[in-house]
Amino acid sequence: MKVTDHIKNSDGETLFSFEIIPPVKGRSIQELYNNIDPLMEFEPPFVDVTTSREEYIYIDRDGLLDKKLTRMRPGTLGICASIKHKYDVDTVPHVLCGGFTKEETEYLLVDCHYLGIDNVMALRGDAMKEEKYFEPTRGGHQYASDLVKQIQSMNRGNYLHEVIETDNCANFCVGVAGYPEKHMEAPSLKSDLKRLKEKVELGADYVVTQMFFDNKKFFEFVEAAREMGITVPIIPGIKPIAVKRHLQLLPQVFRVDIPEDLVEAVELCKNNKEVRQVGVEWCIQQSKELKEAGVPVLHYYSMGKSDNIKAIAKEVF
Ligand SMILES: Cc1cc2nc3c(=O)[nH]c(=O)nc-3n(C[C@H](O)[C@H](O)[C@H](O)COP(=O)(O)OP(=O)(O)OC[C@H]3O[C@@H](n4cnc5c(N)ncnc54)[C@H](O)[C@@H]3O)c2cc1C
Repeated sequence: MKVTDHIKNSDGETLFSFEIIPPVKGRSIQELYNNIDPLMEFEPPFVDVTTSREEYIYIDRDGLLDKKLTRMRPGTLGICASIKHKYDVDTVPHVLCGGFTKEETEYLLVDCHYLGIDNVMALRGDAMKEEKYFEPTRGGHQYASDLVKQIQSMNRGNYLHEVIETDNCANFCVGVAGYPEKHMEAPSLKSDLKRLKEKVELGADYVVTQMFFDNKKFFEFVEAAREMGITVPIIPGIKPIAVKRHLQLLPQVFRVDIPEDLVEAVELCKNNKEVRQVGVEWCIQQSKELKEAGVPVLHYYSMGKSDNIKAIAKEVF
């Protein structure tokens, strides 16, 4: 079922959902299940599975370094299919511009359709580690909006190189990313919102936001988006701080601000067990306020470990 239909059917109740990251190549999917199992009691209608793009590794061959391109966490679609099958929930694979040609994207979407996956999240992806700026893959897309366009074309039976008359068209519901504190490359929040509006005009059905730690930023973002004419559901994505290093890492990687009160509380912690508790408490407060404000879904970034998300969900749902 489509994410937007889950929202429509919820009668205004805030839904619980979360995002997971495929395990590093070679690890067992059982580890993933062990993490997901405790969250299933909160009845997520959908679970997102991220896609990580390829990266360079260097293999030492008798003193000479061999540069190879590899994907450390493949398996997004396999995980989506296995979770859907095991738990009977909808899964949302993340589809990226970076690292994929348009044809590869088409084949991936065909597989999604065969597997009964009704939702995809259309994302550009970040620059590769060695690159300062995002470089589109040869034969791939430059922006997430191009990906939205391709998915919606396919929904109408217009494949890349052929139009197929069929009554078995895909009908993907498409999610896109939004940034309450603006995307790091955008010159301003307003211009970033204009880009978000383009994605919606091209057929994005809902928006999931980047993490934020100050709800005011989210509320202002939603207000600005609505003023600009973006009417689709906007789902807040949130994450509990879990280790002290997040104070530097999260602003650096995601360009988000951490409120001073939270910084002080984390700095007072003697170890990461205490930090995890502070993160949980902050996220509970954030969640309760967002729920009170009537957000359609609370979407948690689980980053592989679920004990803290479970502690939050227990208080909020
Ligand atoms: C909910 C969520 C899930 C994510 N999941 C993943 C994942 O699974 N894997 C992963 O690798 N990354 C993921 N990301 C990160 C995402 O790939 C990066 O933030 C990436 O840098 C931007 O992706 P986007 O889809 O927002 O890009 P876009 O919407 O293409 O925007 C990228 C930048 O280009 C600008 N822009 C857009 N269109 C134009 C235009 N026509 N002309 C000029 N500028 C333009 C925008 O303002 C923005 O600054 C996720 C992010 C979020 C919020």
